[in-house]
Amino acid sequence: MTTVPKLETLTGNQRRLADALRALGPATRADLAAATGLSRATVSTTLGDLTELGLVVEPGGTTPAGPTGGRPASVVQLSPAAGVAIGVDIGRRHLMVAVADLAHTVLAEDGLRLAPDEEHSAPQMLDRAAELVRETLAASGRSFEDVVGVGLGIPAPVVTDTGLIGASNILPQWSGLHPAAEFTKRLNVPVCVENDANLGALAEHMWGAGRNSRSLVYLKLATGIGGGMVIGGRLFRGVSGTAGEIGHLSLDAHGDVCRCGNRGCLELTSGGTALVETLRRTHPEVQSLSELVQLAVAGDVPCRRLIADAATHLGVALGGLLNLMNPDLIIVGGELGRAGDVLLDPLRHALSRSAVASAVDAVSVRQGTLGERAEMLGAVALVLREGDRVPAPF
Ligand SMILES: [Zn+2]
Repeated sequence: MTTVPKLETLTGNQRRLADALRALGPATRADLAAATGLSRATVSTTLGDLTELGLVVEPGGTTPAGPTGGRPASVVQLSPAAGVAIGVDIGRRHLMVAVADLAHTVLAEDGLRLAPDEEHSAPQMLDRAAELVRETLAASGRSFEDVVGVGLGIPAPVVTDTGLIGASNILPQWSGLHPAAEFTKRLNVPVCVENDANLGALAEHMWGAGRNSRSLVYLKLATGIGGGMVIGGRLFRGVSGTAGEIGHLSLDAHGDVCRCGNRGCLELTSGGTALVETLRRTHPEVQSLSELVQLAVAGDVPCRRLIADAATHLGVALGGLLNLMNPDLIIVGGELGRAGDVLLDPLRHALSRSAVASAVDAVSVRQGTLGERAEMLGAVALVLREGDRVPAPF
């Protein structure tokens, strides 16, 4: 790979344009003028300079002709030599890693499942994740010299200003830990950390079902229930990182006690762990949420009923959110999201009875398109957007 200047050494318009390309991926000159506020002439001149430095290439693709019949516009992007971004998704039962170049092309990805009886301390999980990063980076043919940053997704709220995992019972082993500092120690590259459902929301907004959405809610329906919101092209985190924690919305003040310490949380009725436990009475052989979903899609009546009931509870909780936030899109991801219409039809029905009509009319409810890769790709997206500093257009 030819040696080119590091993006962070650029200044002025060159830096602005390079940052915009890193956030947008392949883009037309018109996209870049709109994103940076620079004139078309300045964009063209500056792109010429960046091309000479070896940082920008024109791969030959074009966008379709515009609705007014204008000529198709050619597309430019950061060159492969500009560097790579790494995304890491740490789950309770899995690790996933992707390496992508700054033109948003995934070069290599890998993952591993942890057995249900395999318990790991937070430092051990970070060690295994670091090892998987080294292997995946090697498989991509790139080196740590090329890495501009690592995004790290964690299934717990991340305090927005400090990067600490908030003191909570949601992921007790990780409370008070600073995962970005810990991971930087292991890999010696810049690391930014974010809640996994927030990353799913970011990825679906950039590359998946949420492109062009002005205000979206993403639900990660897995063993637990997480949520993320992208408003005006930016993640909405709240001041201590818990914005969107819909799984711990209390629906019944007299319900069972939840691991978060409150009673009657949505997760207790609609989370994957709760669903699998309830199913044991009729289907003792079913061990996982994915088996339950497969059976439901294949027509198993008790499994379909369980998912429909979970969707009804979800719809009530989401109805409140719909009234408060008035989004244009709800994206359903995670393993339970794969149930498709078995989940979405009763969810839409419950929503229509739980939120004001104009909010219901304005929203679409869709399955995510990125599947189990959403959180991992969101971690890549976090790096590409420099910790969400560069606003994406919508
Ligand atoms: Zn709870």
